Amino acid sequence: GAKSLGRNNYQIYAANTDASQQQHVALKARLRHAVKNDELRVFYQPQVNAVTEDIVGMEALVRWEHPELGMISPAFFIPLAEASGLIVPIGEWVLRTACAQAKAWEDTYGLGLRLGVNLSAVQLMQQNLAEVVTTALSDTGLDPNCLELEVTESISVKTVPHLVETLDALHAMGCHIAIDDFGTGAASLDYLRRLPADRIKIDQSFVRNIGVDPDDEAIVRATIDMAHRLKRGVVAEGVEIEQHLQFLRANGCDELQGYLFCRPLPVVAFDKLLAERERVITEGRAPVTA
Ligand code: C2E
Ligand code: MG
Ligand code: MG
Ligand code: MG
Repeated sequence: GAKSLGRNNYQIYAANTDASQQQHVALKARLRHAVKNDELRVFYQPQVNAVTEDIVGMEALVRWEHPELGMISPAFFIPLAEASGLIVPIGEWVLRTACAQAKAWEDTYGLGLRLGVNLSAVQLMQQNLAEVVTTALSDTGLDPNCLELEVTESISVKTVPHLVETLDALHAMGCHIAIDDFGTGAASLDYLRRLPADRIKIDQSFVRNIGVDPDDEAIVRATIDMAHRLKRGVVAEGVEIEQHLQFLRANGCDELQGYLFCRPLPVVAFDKLLAERERVITEGRAPVTA
């Protein structure tokens, strides 16, 4: 039913029954119309400084607001979009929409927030990606320094032959590069050595086990230390509880992202967050956290 398509709730597809496969195929066909029917939404999740808890950036996260099925998670439809090539127009739409929104917030609040946008391997394989990014920046007026492109660690140099050159070109334009889901792919160390990454994002599967599994805690600590020795910044994803925050702060993680601070928000709610923050700052009190 419709409810089972919500966040973290698509068991009907995992069931792999004939019915679920049929629905799968039908949705893939429907996805084709999602962009031009204006059914895609970009949500924004704050990233905060680990010490001050000030908002320093936000990640753009796409959702599909299906007229009958409700909000569909990207974890479900991005793989469909990748398989059909639709990720190229969808990814470009997300990039342009998020850049325009970040520019509007910059004009209103002037906080110098960084915008993270996820790139799929399929987008990275397009010869014109640097051009698409340049055009999105010049059309919206967003400073390239405010844009951070997130490349998941599972993308390898083998699947994307010109990965290093493409990311070098984006980096040379002034964009930042982040390695997403760090620690889950097979290429961690090779990645850090070869890619022009400004930041790594520790995957939430490690963060979740802080206070639970000493081995994962060791991996988190070692990752922060290694990133810093290589002069890269570190963001922890999936920070859900105070214990995660305390551990990450004590071990020098630079930035944090997770439900403890804020869930991904639609534009209006994120704008309210920034407006309230602005009001508190101008009134001279301590900045509020997300
Ligand atoms: P990601 O890039 O690693 O994004 C972080 C995911 O973690 C988001 O899931 C976010 O909502 C979720 N998250 C944030 N804080 C917490 C927390 O405290 N606990 C838990 N359990 N989860 C948290 P979301 O929005 O469902 O996106 C899933 C994935 O879909 C993203 O993972 C990214 O790989 C992909 N994705 C989302 N938007 C886009 C897009 O525009 N383009 C592409 N290519 N991929 C996208
Ligand atoms: Mg990401
Ligand atoms: Mg991630
Ligand atoms: Mg991910």
